[in-house]
Amino acid sequence: MQKVILITGASRGIGAATAKLAGERGYTVAVNYQSNRAAAEQVVKHIEQAGGRALAIATDIAVESEVVKMFETIDRELGALHALVNNAGILEKQSRLEDMDAARWQRVLATNVTGAFVCAREAVQRMSLKHSGRGGAIVNVSSAAARLGGAFEYIDYAASKGAIDAMTLGLAKEVATEGIRVNAVRPGVIYTDIHARGGEPNRIERVKDSVPMKRGGQALEVAQAILWLLSEEASYVTGTIMDVSGGR
Ligand code: NAP
Repeated sequence: MQKVILITGASRGIGAATAKLAGERGYTVAVNYQSNRAAAEQVVKHIEQAGGRALAIATDIAVESEVVKMFETIDRELGALHALVNNAGILEKQSRLEDMDAARWQRVLATNVTGAFVCAREAVQRMSLKHSGRGGAIVNVSSAAARLGGAFEYIDYAASKGAIDAMTLGLAKEVATEGIRVNAVRPGVIYTDIHARGGEPNRIERVKDSVPMKRGGQALEVAQAILWLLSEEASYVTGTIMDVSGGR
């Protein structure tokens, strides 16, 4: 039986690379996105052309009722969930903390933290042996910003990723005897659209000399780490936060 995986924010960037790789490795893929339907359909097409199965699902993960509906759609259309990648995440225009308002923090935390939490809750309710599930694995996409702090750019975003790290450690312990492993990856600077959203499309060129490997990473390099953490090769790995950051 094929394993079903949900990847949030899978229309572009790291999520899209992870969805394509998961499809190539035999997963049936739920491709969540917020608004870019064309990009999500492209990911689905890529998976189908490689002989796999995928379904694009438009859901704003910051809205709890929408997330609940998304999981019900997966139950109905694809079958029992085996893996979740909590990847969808946002940042806003680069700014010092003293110039931010509370509404901005609430937007960032609603997607990056609360959205990931609701997805994790729905996944655990389905996968836990305690709830008659068949076990599974969760990978949360954090950021090196959780360690570095996001100074002069986005402390709000860094704080949201610190919360993801803490949730990873706690949830891994809660479900360790219930057949579910929970891990995280902390990407460094990766070539995706997110930097343009922060107002600096060429940010990686500016910061890459601070990376010991002197380059940005590709989305596929993060996807490969995520797929390994989800796989049976990582069967004794839980509560781990893996840096995928070129040494930074
Ligand atoms: P990206 O290229 O900007 O893509 C973001 C993805 O998330 C898109 O698929 C977008 O959907 C989706 N999304 C955004 N808000 C959403 C919401 N409320 N509900 C559902 N989907 C939503 O981002 P990325 O760089 O690949 O980042 C992916 C993850 O890696 C994020 O958690 C980010 O914080 C983390 N990360 C990235 C880097 C980096 O350098 N790129 C470094 C460290 C960590 P639409 O296409 O529909 O808009």
